[in-house]
Parts: sequence; structure tokens; C-alpha cells
Amino acid sequence: MNLIVILGAGESGVGAALLAKEKKYNIFVSEYGQIKDKYRSELVQHDISFEEGDHTLDKILTADLIIKSPGIPEDAHVIQEIRKTKIELISEIEFASRFYSGKIIAITGSNGKTTTTLLTYHLLKEGGISVGVCGNVGRSFARLLVEDQEKEVCIIEVSSFQLDDVKLFKPHIAMVLNITADHLDRYEYQIENYARAKWKITSNQIDTDVLIYNGDDEWIQKFITAGENRQRLISIKLSNKENTSLLMSNDDTIDITQFKLKGKHNAFNAKCASEAAIVLGLTSGDIEKGLQSFSNVEHRLENITKINDVLYVNDSKATNVDSVFYALDAFDEEIIWIAGGTDKGNDYSQILSLVKERVSTLICLGVDNSKLLDYFTPHIKCIEETQDINEAAQIASRYAKSGNVVLLSPACASFDLFNNYEHRGKLFKKAVFNLIR
Ligand code: ADP
Repeated sequence: MNLIVILGAGESGVGAALLAKEKKYNIFVSEYGQIKDKYRSELVQHDISFEEGDHTLDKILTADLIIKSPGIPEDAHVIQEIRKTKIELISEIEFASRFYSGKIIAITGSNGKTTTTLLTYHLLKEGGISVGVCGNVGRSFARLLVEDQEKEVCIIEVSSFQLDDVKLFKPHIAMVLNITADHLDRYEYQIENYARAKWKITSNQIDTDVLIYNGDDEWIQKFITAGENRQRLISIKLSNKENTSLLMSNDDTIDITQFKLKGKHNAFNAKCASEAAIVLGLTSGDIEKGLQSFSNVEHRLENITKINDVLYVNDSKATNVDSVFYALDAFDEEIIWIAGGTDKGNDYSQILSLVKERVSTLICLGVDNSKLLDYFTPHIKCIEETQDINEAAQIASRYAKSGNVVLLSPACASFDLFNNYEHRGKLFKKAVFNLIR
């Protein structure tokens, strides 16, 4: 029986292992670091052989097929060695898609993936379609296929890393929300490489498939102009008139006055999700109802509470400059902005005019705040620095006047002071509630 080697024992790797086991392959899982307890016990429980703390090349290179977890970079020694051989190397979503005959909706982009994925899922589920959701949002695609009965539709949030090694992966509906600089460290600091990885989501689509894309995005436009575009194309642009209703490609309008998510970017996300729902047969009425009942996703422009007429907002997931642009743009009020963390090569010029217009105070929250300080000191009257999120909330509350917004929208990764963005967001919410006491 064929040997499948799976590199990485996180959610993708273990999901792939469970699916491969179900399909009766010989499996060996190899994890370079330590395996989390919950995943180790799953491997043991399913009698799947594995190693951790090393990649044993001699064993790995005997595989007939290798499945790579998205966290493993191309320049990892093990990948370089595999590339020298003829062994097929694929990603987990590629592997899983080979065992799925339903319709795939795959959603990628630099920002907005999780929101749009969950929103599309909500619309379809509420519209009565048998649908599953997976990918970066939670369970891996492979695990979903093992644990759930086969769904008519699977919505997958896919990162560029998962698309790096797809070959036949073919979504019935692909969405490319935007392509802006992010994760460039994995793409030789060339945005073109990163953009090309994202665009692979479209590469196997045929004329009965659909591509929903951001018609204002420079990179996407380049690909559309240069490509053969066999699939049906739906370009999404928001006009200024679309703040109360969305004009859809079939000329229907969808009311969004009861939609709870703030900001133009969320109206854009709603439009993309609604187009997908229309493709799958939902009516405007179904979609309006679904949009109304969708509540915000944690850590994405999440309203925490109002204290003394000051609104506190947790946007901890804003880990790049583009997402901060939309956060600042979503409020007309004066903003006390909390930002900082691990810089990913940020270029703040994109948000400078909005910052000048809306931000009265910047509170830098990070181990090294020098880049933020250097850039914004000439432009913002009041700048403070701290390495403590409780103190950040306290400083913000001292500066905030009635009607202001205190916005945590860091533009940076969280790993200097926190475990991840969820940890940062939760501690911020706690710090805000402590202000009440
Ligand atoms: P992703 O999964 O791509 O990281 P999320 O839905 O988790 O996207 O949102 C990440 C951040 O980007 C949040 O701060 C959110 O407010 C912002 N955001 C959401 N949708 C968009 C969009 N279409 N364009 C730009 N920023 C967005």
C-alpha cells in the first residue's frame, strides 16, 4: 500500500492524517517541533505512526506522496530535499479536495477572509443549503470530510500558504478579496510571488465556475487582463451610493441598513458573500435576512462597550496597514488609536492622511515602538508609549472625550507581548472592562 508522509502535525497535518487513514493509506507524520497534546493523542488514538522534534529524511524520502502543512516554508531543508526528488508534494486542501465531490467555495485575500467566509457560510446555512465551513477559520478541510456527513457545499478559507502546493484544486466559486503586502518574508520579499500564490485559487476553474474578485485591486486587475478567464467573472466594486443597499450583478438590490458590521470593507465583504449566495440560488430576500442576523466576528472591529460615551473597539486582528485603513475609515468620530507590536515591514504612508484627519492620540503598545514613533511624531500632537495593555486602556480613557472612539487596531503582529492576536484582543477587552470597576 502507498506511503503518504505528512509534514507538520497541526490542524492541517492531523486532519490530512485522519483522512488518509480513513482511505486506508500507510501514513507517517513528521513534525519538526513539539506536537500539541490534543493532536498527539489523536494520532495515538488512530494508530498513526509519527515522529516529533525532527524530520527523518531517509524515511520521508521513501514516500509516494507528501502532504505539507501550510506553516512549513519553502526554504525549509526538508522541502528543499524533497524538491530534488520526483515525489509529489501537495498541500492539505489539495489532498482533501481529491476526495470531495460537492461544490467548493474557496475564499482568499490579504484581508477579510475570515469575515467573508463566516458570512457566506451564515447566508447559505440560513438559506437552507447543506454547507460546511473549514480552512483557516477552524477545522481543516480534510478533518471536515472525516467528521461530517458529506455536505453539498464546502466553504474553505484559504491562505496563500495553502495555495502554494495545489495542483488540481478547483473551486466552483473562488473569491479573491484583495492582494496587499503581507507575509512577504515567505515570498522572497516580492509581492508578485505572493500575488501569484493567491491567484492559484483560479487556475483550474472552467467555464461553469465563477470567480468573484475585487475589481479595484491593482494586482487582481493585472491577472484578469493577462489571463484567459474561462470562468464566469463577477467584479465587485462598491460605489459611494451603496451604503444602504448593494447593487448586485443580476441587477437585484439588497438592503444592508440592518447589517451590523461597520465600514465600507464589510459592505464589500457582504457583497462578495451575497454574490456567492445568488450563484447558489438564494433570493435577495433570503440574503437580506441572513445579513441582518449575522453578528460581528470577534477581534474584527468588535464593539466592546461604551464608557462615559466613549466607544471601545477591539480590532486586534488588524495586523497589517491595509486593515487599519478600513478601521480608521469606519469611524467619523475622533479616534484614540492603540497600535504597535511586531512590525512586518509596514509602510504607513497609505494611512497618513486618515490618521491626520481622525486620530487625536496614538498610544504605541509594543516592545519596540521606534518605527511608529519616528513616523507619526511629526503628525500627531499626542503620542504615548507603553508595553502594558492595561496601561494602554487607562491612558486611552484619560485622553478620550465624550463621543470619541478608542480603537485597538495594531497594524502589527502580536508576538512581542502576546501569544497571538486573540490573546491580545481578549486582554484588551478585559482591560476595558476593568476601567468600569
Ligand atoms: P483575514 O482572515 O483575511 O485576516 P479578517 O476577516 O480576519 O481577515 O479581518 C482581518 C482584519 O482586516 C480586521 O481588522 C478587519 O476589520 C479587516 N478587514 C476585513 N475585511 C476587509 C477587507 N475587505 N479589506 C480590508 N480589511 C478588511
